[in-house]
Amino acid sequence: LDVWLRLLKGMYQAGEPNAVTIGTVPFGKSLSVMFTHDVDFTQSMANAVGYAEFERSKGLTGTYFIQAKYIRDYNDDIFFDEQGVRYLARLAELGMELASHTVAHSASFNSFPMGTGEEQYPGYRPFVKTRSKAYGATILGELRVSKFLIDRLGGGRAMVSFRPGELSNPFGLPQALVATGFRYSSAATANNSLTHLPYQLTYDRLSESEVDIFEFPVTIEDEELPPMGERIPQALVLAKQIARYGGTVVVLIHPNILGHKLEFEKQFYEAVKDWAWFGSLREFGDWWSARNLLHVDVAGKADRMMVSINAPRRISGVTIEVPIGWTLLPQRGARQDGHAITLDVVEQTRVLHFAVAGVQRDF
Ligand SMILES: [Zn+2]
Repeated sequence: LDVWLRLLKGMYQAGEPNAVTIGTVPFGKSLSVMFTHDVDFTQSMANAVGYAEFERSKGLTGTYFIQAKYIRDYNDDIFFDEQGVRYLARLAELGMELASHTVAHSASFNSFPMGTGEEQYPGYRPFVKTRSKAYGATILGELRVSKFLIDRLGGGRAMVSFRPGELSNPFGLPQALVATGFRYSSAATANNSLTHLPYQLTYDRLSESEVDIFEFPVTIEDEELPPMGERIPQALVLAKQIARYGGTVVVLIHPNILGHKLEFEKQFYEAVKDWAWFGSLREFGDWWSARNLLHVDVAGKADRMMVSINAPRRISGVTIEVPIGWTLLPQRGARQDGHAITLDVVEQTRVLHFAVAGVQRDF
């Protein structure tokens, strides 16, 4: 699908001499990277803190999808207990994004009933019997109850991001996320979605009505073989390919161990840090949804062009791409680097003026 988008952009730029496009990566970088972690195993709460300390030391914000596991079942023991909550608070203290990874972590989440929207802790008691069977579980219950517990006990901001266990993805998930106060989802893989860019979800995943949820599909994960620590060169080749058109890399690491997985994260970070932007799902989601509201108009004649950008929601680090030969007339908070103009902040309307060299055109 990204090929289509690039083709359309190419056609627009070839056919329209005053083509102006909006960049897909914050602050004029080439690639957006998100380090995300699924915390769904007893040892993972403690190890998660190890990843968070590394991320904090580099000024990164990781996203921690946490299973609010207060019931012992087929999957595992309880780990959302007093000790678990102390680790949760530590993650929040380190500035990490806390997000939901359901209550039951069932592979059959995609066939759960929607539920009533009145599910509450402790009355909500989903029980996973086997890999394919779970009782007393609902989609809304999984969302509501995990969000309530983690928000309440983590002490951080109200969460906005969600990833289901085993990426089990019900058709009703988009509207269920809206109904329970989420805004960002990471429930699909890039290969299944056929894109390395975020996209807006639709009601029941049908073709008509968009809902106010953006999906950030997983690019690189840690459970396939060979072990993650041996896949660094391949991951970097992929990152460079995606960076050619300003795509997104979502890295998924389960903190069940540190070792080679943490090493992967460190080496990946070092290798891409000069040309990549890093953020949590919330940070990139907020940027992307503000970008989605931008409106750009181009006007002018002969050797002077004017670009006005309207941002209903404040956005930092937005980049626009302008044709060859356009020179930005100096103004505060805007920098030109070749085709790219990066703006520190846009809020409401911002107007940029350009001197245009070369060809005379008729208007
Ligand atoms: Zn999981």
